[in-house]
Amino acid sequence: MQADIAIIGAGPAGLAAATRLAAQGIGRVAVIEREPQPGGIPRHCGHSPFGMREFHRILGGQAYAARLAAGARAAGATILCDTTAIALLPGPALELSGPGGVTRLSARAVLLATGTRESSRVQRMIGGQKPGGILTTGALQGIVHLNHQRPFLRPVVLGTEVVSFSALLTCRQAGIRPAAMIEPGPRVVARRGAGLLPRLLGVPLMLTTRITRIIGRDRVEAVAVEGPDGAHQIAADGVLLTGAFRSEAGLLAMAGLALDPLSTGPVIDSFGRLDQPGFFAAGNLLRPVETAGACWAEGLRAADAIAAHLAGALPGRAGALPLRIDGDAIRYALPQLILPAGPGRHDHIQLRVARPVVGELRLMQQDRVIARQRIDARPERRVTMPIPPGLGQGPLVLALEKRR
Ligand SMILES: Cc1cc2nc3c(=O)[nH]c(=O)nc-3n(C[C@H](O)[C@H](O)[C@H](O)COP(=O)(O)OP(=O)(O)OC[C@H]3O[C@@H](n4cnc5c(N)ncnc54)[C@H](O)[C@@H]3O)c2cc1C
Repeated sequence: MQADIAIIGAGPAGLAAATRLAAQGIGRVAVIEREPQPGGIPRHCGHSPFGMREFHRILGGQAYAARLAAGARAAGATILCDTTAIALLPGPALELSGPGGVTRLSARAVLLATGTRESSRVQRMIGGQKPGGILTTGALQGIVHLNHQRPFLRPVVLGTEVVSFSALLTCRQAGIRPAAMIEPGPRVVARRGAGLLPRLLGVPLMLTTRITRIIGRDRVEAVAVEGPDGAHQIAADGVLLTGAFRSEAGLLAMAGLALDPLSTGPVIDSFGRLDQPGFFAAGNLLRPVETAGACWAEGLRAADAIAAHLAGALPGRAGALPLRIDGDAIRYALPQLILPAGPGRHDHIQLRVARPVVGELRLMQQDRVIARQRIDARPERRVTMPIPPGLGQGPLVLALEKRR
């Protein structure tokens, strides 16, 4: 099989790129999607608001996903569903596993847009027995909105990120009444005010509390927790693991592509290029986790960079300036390699902080501050900083100076 551009992942990022590239008539665009339908995460979301930036109207997740997919097909892209990319090969090329068995697809450029996923129980090191009824929000939303089932009636919810509150709303829609919402940290991770929702829904919110053990043989029966009041058990029939997102980067790791342990995604340059020729990345694969609208916009930018690459109009990577992070207050920052202007360039540094912080961001080169920006952010807020023109030589260093 051959295509000019192969895109792995039919979520907002992959479909936006497919639509723009196909509409430009640059060549054959094939989108590879392991699920039976395109649309990515929004297809699993029974709630709004999606679509303001893309379609200037508020849509539910499923309507939004369907509209993105229809747009890509109308532009001329081919979407291959029930097909999983199982290996990335030099060329670039892909190994696919689909209805026809294992096949190989060669392309002139490959865009990786495989998204993000929530950490599993194993990744969170939660001990105890291994009963049924332990799910992530993504799995819950699929079961509730696509299969119309209720996997449990009284789960304990772990986490307080934005997605954790979306999980509470999904529970409410499905008639599921969580027994408690648990946060290991001293405060709710999501924006101020989010902590009111559990109270409104009658769900006890327990801060500075961690799950030490899950109890139950076939099904969850209780959850052992340790908090300010000591250790105790909460009767529950499930555990909902929310947030703690990680990039879906397994394919990249297997192919030996460079990964950033801070963002959990690939190391990209200003044009979203990876460290093997012809491979690009966009969307939540780059880092956990931004909104559908932000990922869609990144897909468009990636399309512009790929079009320029196919026309031989992108600058080489040779002169790229590495972006380094000073201290531990910045959780990640990207792009990790910065280049001067060009089509589809990430012209802002995007970052997240590790904890709530008020202060000043400083971008430095050779011990000289070349850009500064005031910042008042929490870990859930996307922070962007314009990259100044006229960069000199040597690595860039990003530091956060706290206000005293
Ligand atoms: C549980 C959950 C709830 C969320 N709720 C919201 C919300 O309410 N609003 C919001 O704006 N954002 C929400 N998000 C963020 C969400 O990730 C973005 O909205 C958006 O979907 C990201 O777009 P994307 O294209 O980067 O990735 P995704 O939408 O995740 O799409 C990636 C696609 O790649 C496919 N894929 C992955 N690996 C392979 C492979 N090897 N082969 C073939 N296909 C592959 C996946 O099946 C998926 O369809 C949520 C995220 C999660 C996990």
